[in-house]
Amino acid sequence: MTYSRKVFIPLTTLCRDRCTYCTFAKSPGAGGMYLEPDEVLAIAKAGDEAGCTEALFTLGDRPEERWPQAASFLAARGLDSTIGYVAEMSALVRSETSLFPHANPGLLDDDDMRLLRPTNPSMGMMLENISPRLMEPGMPHHGTLSKDPSRRVATIEAAGRARVPFTTGILVGIGERRDELVDSLFALRDLGRATGAIQEIIIQNFRAKADTPMRHSAEPVPRWFARVVALARWILGPEANVQVPPNLTEQFEIYLDAGINDWGGVSPLTIDWVNPEAPWPHLDELRSRTEAAGFTLRPRLPVYPEYIDEDWIHAALYADVVAAADKDGLALIPETSGAR
Ligand code: SF4
Repeated sequence: MTYSRKVFIPLTTLCRDRCTYCTFAKSPGAGGMYLEPDEVLAIAKAGDEAGCTEALFTLGDRPEERWPQAASFLAARGLDSTIGYVAEMSALVRSETSLFPHANPGLLDDDDMRLLRPTNPSMGMMLENISPRLMEPGMPHHGTLSKDPSRRVATIEAAGRARVPFTTGILVGIGERRDELVDSLFALRDLGRATGAIQEIIIQNFRAKADTPMRHSAEPVPRWFARVVALARWILGPEANVQVPPNLTEQFEIYLDAGINDWGGVSPLTIDWVNPEAPWPHLDELRSRTEAAGFTLRPRLPVYPEYIDEDWIHAALYADVVAAADKDGLALIPETSGAR
């Protein structure tokens, strides 16, 4: 079992979309904003001191296309896109810390991939579900341009063309039918085969959040969700890296038996901004519970070992990634950090 020791950097909580289960995105009037460079650096430096290796940039999708405040923030920095700001902040983190950025900025095209690749050894974006039915009126993705499955598929295809190791996955329990769940897993399997770029697939359970239109929607129960995870392993095959976040289920050990091999990014410092009500387990607890179930737990880099080569990692990053990896391609973390 692996995990990535990370800090979570919510670069902007502004977003052009409004998914009905989301509490991450906020309007400018409700506190939506960008982090300033000194705030980004403060989080990253704290992570560096705590032995983290990943700076996870999570943010809303192209807020400048909806909010004038976003466009003004960017214009004041001489930028016309949030992706440009992600690139600047990734470069800042690279120059001032030993962390590797892993950007999750939503939809990306070929130019975006090229812009971010010299500073991000890997990137990510959830597919969520392959069914366009979830965009119909009354469904969670109604009116959300960025959740159009064809655009999400195009982003993963762009990752393949740009040679970007890519993390994706499905969100389970947002109103999809069982056949749509299965179709989504087969779609990811086929995209992985076609692009070679899918390094990891997250199987994430929906959690109902107060103050959202889906606050009364039923959440997947762990026994059902574990069956979905086992199905994912069966469809994706033994070589796939399959992850379930450990902070969204109390008895998370059930997913070890269902076939996962990764707990994803876990932070010793920052909250999960996408699920702020769900604290990550302390790393000592994650280790002891994983080991009690018969597994060993090892930290990995944001990029998986099988992608650490000069084809998949930009030349500007390659030597540093290799230097940060042990003989298995997993993370070398100093003993003094308390990470082991
Ligand atoms: S695109 Fe992402 S950040 Fe934006 S509303 Fe949907 S879930 Fe929230």
